[in-house]
Amino acid sequence: MNEYELYLQKIDELKRIGLEPHIYGYTTLGLPMYVYKLSKKIDYTKKPIKVLVQAGIHAREYITTFLLFALIEYYNVRIYRELSMLNKERKSEYLNLNYELYFAINTNVDGFRLCTMGLDCITDIALRNKLISINQGNLDFSLYKANINGVDLNVNFDARWGTGKCNIKHKNYENFIGDKPNSEVETQNLIALTQKVKPDITISYHSKGEEIYYQFFQDEQMLLRDKSIAQVIAKTTKYAIKDISTTSAGGYKDYCIQHYNIPAYTIEVGNDSYSHPLGLEKLPTIFKQNKYVISNILKFLASGQQNL
Ligand SMILES: [Zn+2]
Repeated sequence: MNEYELYLQKIDELKRIGLEPHIYGYTTLGLPMYVYKLSKKIDYTKKPIKVLVQAGIHAREYITTFLLFALIEYYNVRIYRELSMLNKERKSEYLNLNYELYFAINTNVDGFRLCTMGLDCITDIALRNKLISINQGNLDFSLYKANINGVDLNVNFDARWGTGKCNIKHKNYENFIGDKPNSEVETQNLIALTQKVKPDITISYHSKGEEIYYQFFQDEQMLLRDKSIAQVIAKTTKYAIKDISTTSAGGYKDYCIQHYNIPAYTIEVGNDSYSHPLGLEKLPTIFKQNKYVISNILKFLASGQQNL
């Protein structure tokens, strides 16, 4: 079974335990884009903290989608089992939180399917030929990052679009910015979801490098706010905070910071010594590093050490 089939199987498995995803849009080829919502409201006088987590925007980084499945299962049930074994103080600290978690499990489903199944998943001959040319004549799509139109979705957002260091202006398996900002339906769908959810914070999972990115031309006060949360993520994962803002543009994190002034993070999972695409055998380690990221951010914000 390939990873795309495993993905479909996982969605079915989650349905069987009562977790139904919501379809927030369809890809270029008409595949559903799913988001899972988990929420907990203890105190109805308090506004819940909303966290939107998205993964798999780069096709070959599909391990991040499987990380989200693991996080969904963890925050749905397992965390409560774990908490029942913790001391009373730590337990109530978590149980008193009000939150809404949104997991947009894969932002580039067409790319993910192409990357893991190759051209076998494409029946249209013209499209197959187009994809071979996008992939520079290479019939192996395992390193493919873009969507099915040869647009790199994480440089397609309307946020200093076209000014990124690695941007290119023609269709390619990576780094093509698109014909205009937000040109791709997958980009538009994620924006519409974000506008609907109105998250307080977003996390974008990528691979690889064990790094955290949080900057995008914020003013000084916001930079301090956003770095304080980045430090929580760094302490939890042991990943390195990258204090740079000048190389990135057009990414989802960049879009969230520029348009909503909210803290938004790119977390690169997986050791840099691994090669792309990261095999699913790396998942247990990556999950272990990341499972408390959300709960530690929620606890940090609820403690009042940082206001949004
Ligand atoms: Zn990426």
